[in-house]
Amino acid sequence: MATNGTVGHVNGQANGNGTVAPYRYTHAYLRKARPLRIAIIGCGVSGIAAVHMFKERFRAPGQDLPIELVIYEKNKSIGGTWYENRYPGCSCDVPSHSYTFSWDGNPYFSRVYVGAPELYDYFTDRAEAYGVPEFVRLQHQFESATWNNATGQYELTVKDLATGTLVEDKAEVVINASGVLNSWKWPDFPGLETFAGKHTSADLSGKTVGVVGTGSSGIQLVPQVQAVAKHMRVAARRYSARSR
Ligand SMILES: Cc1cc2nc3c(=O)[nH]c(=O)nc-3n(C[C@H](O)[C@H](O)[C@H](O)COP(=O)(O)OP(=O)(O)OC[C@H]3O[C@@H](n4cnc5c(N)ncnc54)[C@H](O)[C@@H]3O)c2cc1C
Repeated sequence: MATNGTVGHVNGQANGNGTVAPYRYTHAYLRKARPLRIAIIGCGVSGIAAVHMFKERFRAPGQDLPIELVIYEKNKSIGGTWYENRYPGCSCDVPSHSYTFSWDGNPYFSRVYVGAPELYDYFTDRAEAYGVPEFVRLQHQFESATWNNATGQYELTVKDLATGTLVEDKAEVVINASGVLNSWKWPDFPGLETFAGKHTSADLSGKTVGVVGTGSSGIQLVPQVQAVAKHMRVAARRYSARSR
């Protein structure tokens, strides 16, 4: 009686009107892994860590689980924060040796608060070691996910930024690793949309520079840029509690 993986059984449950409806069950044994596809949005530090965990959990030697992983990353490179941010002085604002994967520290950092390029090198080097390139699709921007209750899957739309085409995919699990600080908020200055100088690594030598904000990025940036700028003005919303 088996048909495509299910069995009809005559000793099924009584349905209350005197007849017996055959019940159906699959041939799967208890705890048999079912095929699963996991899609991750973004390949910064979180996406890279997810691959390491995926391999540890589902690709251990001797395991043969039908579980797939794909990572959609909109940029031309992995690395997230440390690929995108290259302003003068951009660096870790916590001691770098504590800003590593907990299972894979880096005793070779050159100083306590290393810059963005050194962090990028550490994380991309670890990504290679974990086999991230096998899973990542660069220049693929996640657009939408719609849950389909009947299939138990998310229906995904992803834009291939190299060709402009939309790609459809399906996944049982979607992990959002797109970064809480990844969607930048530009100040609302008139004309900013047509300003050609928007850049994260512009050469500011000899320029007149205005800095808005004195958070960790401002603190990193100002000492570097004041040394080369013609003139610099820093706008702080208010004095900090300490300076009062
Ligand atoms: C300048 C700066 C300095 C920082 N310094 C520190 C620090 O010293 N210590 C600290 O703990 N934290 C720091 N942070 C916070 C930092 O963002 C996190 O520590 C960490 O890097 C976040 O990693 P993530 O993978 O979650 O996100 P991200 O690094 O932001 O990576 C997200 C990735 O998702 C991709 N993505 C986003 N949307 C889409 C989409 N729709 N489709 C496909 N891909 C998408 C992005 O391109 C990116 O590659 C800093 C952040 C910045 C901006």
